[in-house]
Amino acid sequence: MVQITELSFRYGEPERGEQGFALRIDELRVAAGESVAFVGPSGSGKTTLLHLVAGILAPDAGHVLVAGEDLATLDDARRRAFRVAKIGLVFQEFELLDYLSVLDNILLPYRIHSILRLDGAARDRAGALAERLGIGDKLARRPGSLSQGERQRAAVCRSLVTGPSLLLADEPTGNLDPVNTGLVLDALFELTNESGATLLAVTHNLELLPRFDRVIDFKDFQPPPAARS
Ligand code: ADP
Ligand code: MG
Repeated sequence: MVQITELSFRYGEPERGEQGFALRIDELRVAAGESVAFVGPSGSGKTTLLHLVAGILAPDAGHVLVAGEDLATLDDARRRAFRVAKIGLVFQEFELLDYLSVLDNILLPYRIHSILRLDGAARDRAGALAERLGIGDKLARRPGSLSQGERQRAAVCRSLVTGPSLLLADEPTGNLDPVNTGLVLDALFELTNESGATLLAVTHNLELLPRFDRVIDFKDFQPPPAARS
């Protein structure tokens, strides 16, 4: 489902003397249906990698294939269509729009791209997901009037509503108490299992790791200290 080869990516422009962060991954393959947890210190590039897999960032060299498609070779319109149709994203900062209700935020993928049809079934799914994650009574509210944990669950609902084949979740339980962490994790795993979707999730919660098929530690992607300068 995800195939990364000889990836290198850097923020900043070295020719202007900027010492930006650099990420190098020689090889990473995630099979369809697999669930993988990304762990590693803050600043080690976990969010950056999710953005590379989503095609929000493009690698400087190497390839990121998702379902066999090299997102960097698609034009903007196709890349957006591919992302909306195949990928669910839970951003670390949620990225909810405060001028829309919670329901309309959950349904946002349908509003930003005509490739998806906003019909009664989509609305039913949105309502059912919100119910399941304990925010069913908050659908008419604006995100600004929700708690952090409720906003996070709204973001998780939005990522799942389209039934994506790849789910990218950046610390999806980072703001949740143990009960809601359980609710969100159960929903992520059940829905991805039911549909055979692939799950890549960043987490700092070590107790959750046994639930994943595989754990990848970003310490392994860091250059050895001698190579840094
Ligand atoms: P993590 O998610 O593992 O905490 P990130 O991928 O967010 O790490 O960031 C990795 C490194 O890249 C950090 O040092 C961060 O400061 C830097 N970084 C992140 N985004 C940008 C950006 N837009 N421009 C420059 N540097 C960035
Ligand atoms: Mg991060």
